[in-house]
Order: sequence, then C-alpha cells, then structure tokens
Amino acid sequence: MPDKSNYGKGELMTAEIIAVGTELLLGAVANTDAMYISRELAAMGINVHHHSVVGDNESRLKAAVELAKTRADIIITSGGLGPTYDDMTKGAVAECFGLKLELHQPSFDKIRGYFEKLGRECTPNNEQQAWLPKGCTVLENSCGTAPGCAFNSGDWHVIMLPGPPVELRAMLTSGAIPYLEKLSDTALASRHVRFFGIGESALENELGNMMISSFNPTVAPYSADFEVYLRVTAAAKTREEAFSMTQPMVDKLVEMFPNNVYGVDVDNLEQTVSALLRERGKTVALAESCTGGLIAKRLTDIPGASELLWGSAVVYTNEAKTEMLGVPGELINKHGAVSEPVAIAMADGILAKSGADYALSVTGWCGAERSDCGAQKSGVCGANSGNIFIALAKKEGETRVLNITYGQSRERGRMLAAGHALKLLLDELKREKNT
Ligand code: ATP
Repeated sequence: MPDKSNYGKGELMTAEIIAVGTELLLGAVANTDAMYISRELAAMGINVHHHSVVGDNESRLKAAVELAKTRADIIITSGGLGPTYDDMTKGAVAECFGLKLELHQPSFDKIRGYFEKLGRECTPNNEQQAWLPKGCTVLENSCGTAPGCAFNSGDWHVIMLPGPPVELRAMLTSGAIPYLEKLSDTALASRHVRFFGIGESALENELGNMMISSFNPTVAPYSADFEVYLRVTAAAKTREEAFSMTQPMVDKLVEMFPNNVYGVDVDNLEQTVSALLRERGKTVALAESCTGGLIAKRLTDIPGASELLWGSAVVYTNEAKTEMLGVPGELINKHGAVSEPVAIAMADGILAKSGADYALSVTGWCGAERSDCGAQKSGVCGANSGNIFIALAKKEGETRVLNITYGQSRERGRMLAAGHALKLLLDELKREKNT
C-alpha cells in the first residue's frame, strides 16, 4: 500500500479499474468503459496501474477486489449494477469492505417513477438496483435506472459505475470526478497539442529529453486515430494557476513544430477545419476516389456541416470522373486515373459545378499491389499502388497538389489520405487568415 501522507502535496494516487461482465471475457463487447475511465483519471493526475476484467461471478469478483486492495488506493468498478440475477457487483464489493447494503429510498422512488412514466410495471427485481452500501455517496444515473455509488473505507476509496457506456460516462462526469477531486487539494490542468504528419517515435526523437526531464508541467505523448497528441499537464493550487503554468510549454511546442501542430485543445482535424470554414463563412466541395467519402464522413460528423460542406462526389470509375466532374477522358488515358493532372481536373471540376469556395479531390490506390489488377477500369494498376494525389482548388488562385505514398493497409491509406486532405485545406485557411 503506498504511503498516503503526501497526497494533496503533489503525490499521485493509484487507481485500479475492475470491469465486470461475462460479455467482456467472451469478446462480445470491448472494454471501452475502462479506456474512458483511464483517460479521465489520467487527466486528473491519478495513476492507473491495473485494469482487470471479471465475469459475472461473485467469488472471482471478490478475489479481484481483494487483489486491487493490495495495489491501489482507488478501486473503480463498471457494470453489474442492474436488476438481473447476475448483477451482483454492489453486494460483492460491499462485502469486501465489511459493509451491508441498505435500501436507498429516493433511488427506489426514482426507479418506480421511471416505470410509472412508461406505463410499465416495476417488477420486484428492480428494487435491487436501489440497494446500496450503507453510508455511501449515491451517484445519480441521469441516463438509466441503476444508481452508482462511492464510499471510503479504511485506506481505500471505492466507486461503482454502471456498465452501459452512456450511463457510465455521464455518471463519471457528474458524480465520480467531483468525488475524486475532493480527495486532493491539488488542482490539475491538462492541455492537448495535436499533431498531424509526424509519428509518435519521430516526435519523441525530435523532442529529445524534453519529455523525460519536464516536471510540472509534464509532457506525455499519445497516439489515436492515426494522429499523435501531446498532453501537457501542470499541478497547482488552483486550476487557473495550473492552466497558466502549461502555457509556456504549449507555446514552445507550437513554435518547434509549425508544420505539424494543427491545434491546441481541439478535438480533431475535421472539427478544426469546420470551425475555420464557419468562422470565415466559406464552403468546400469534395471529389473523392480512393477515400470513398471518408472526408465527407469526417466533416459531417460535426453538427451543422450543411453550412460549410456543399457535397461530395464519390467517383470510382473513369466514367464517373468524366460524367460527374467533367474530367476529360483523354487526360485519364494519357496520365492514368491516379495522377497529378487528373487530381487537379477533379478538384477544378467539382469547384466549377458546386460554386464552393474550395474543392478537395483525392485519387489514389488505397490497397496492396494487385497482380490481377481487377481495377483496370479505373486505371490504377501496378506502379500507382500506394500512391495518392490530393488537390486543393479555390475560387481564386492556382490549384495545389500533394502526392503521398504509403506502404500499409487499405484502411490506413484511406485515413492518411483523408487526414492529409483536411490538413491541406486547414493550412490554406490559416494562411489566408493570416495574410
Ligand atoms: P444494466 O442496468 O444495463 O444491466 P449494468 O450496470 O448491470 O447495467 P451490465 O449489465 O454489466 O451493466 O452491462 C450492460 C451493457 O453495458 C453490456 O451488455 C455492454 O453492452 C455494456 N458494457 C458493460 N460493461 C462494459 C464495458 N466495460 N465497456 C463497454 N461496454 C460495457
């Protein structure tokens, strides 16, 4: 058991997450709850050293809790709070801390009210959800019926959350995080510096020992969805103070990687591009060959996309490129569908048809080289495999082309192409904004 005398004075607490559910062990459901909890705890400066998964089995759950007690200060469970016979998390966990369950009347009233509203009978097993460890802090479930709970017992803090991700996330934000924040008098602030076009190892290499030697703020790399981000975290008495302590490091990173940093404290490339298009009152049209509509998908993930995305033409065959975008057949025959001139003609074609302010086009071969080359109709055989051209056309000025090559999977090729296309547009929007 770690020495807790320095908590609140910069010393970090250690948490263990125990996910309960046989469906997780069977591989039917991915343990995204643990992933989500871990991220949130990391942002709070709480170490997570172990994740465990146990089936809906009381004795194995108790054994997992006893093990967690030997190596963590905070034990967080997910799942098994519902009304069915296999939902036994609360009883098993409470027993590990010598606690009994008692009926929490306000929670039961809420459950009954929920069923009344639906005009359904509240069956006796639903009462089980309102039985909670004696003396616990009840965590309300704003998205479902089963309440969660938190309690302190001896050296440990225990939090129990429901399994369904939407319920767990809401309860973590509204109940569990505020509970954990009260355990320390240190406030933390985390900033996220997002990179595109540089890998995690290359980034670490360029940063030298900056990451290892930096302390308050600390700098840690993460990669997700084919991108890399650095989390800069500082601890201080107040969140405002911690936030301002991160700023010099954030500024330094932006200055060091002007071509790779695309945003600070933003969600992703598409959100950043959308925000800038919206801010400038501009629109974009897309002509997508090898990305198959992925750029459009990413932009339409952001609410309000119709204000800035004119539309996307998914053009796979040569005929589609000619008929939908007006790309001359001779041009395709002469240079091949995956070529700089065709990428330019595709972007220029959709720009003219749409009247949008910008047009992005992608043409390439997002797959391993194929000896049978069943894609002859699109003219992308042999030498073009893994070769992608991206063009950016705009109402005024020349159309620009970017050529990328890669040697990995089809999925990765598509993601990379879509990312590069969005980054190309973002760089142009930023350049115009600053001139
Ligand atoms: P319910 O009232 O729905 O029974 P519960 O707290 O008892 O809630 P479980 O029965 O354990 O939760 O799980 C309900 C569903 O939540 C599972 O079928 C699964 O789809 C999802 N779920 C459970 N645990 C996880 C997890 N660790 N990660 C992602 N999803 C999960």
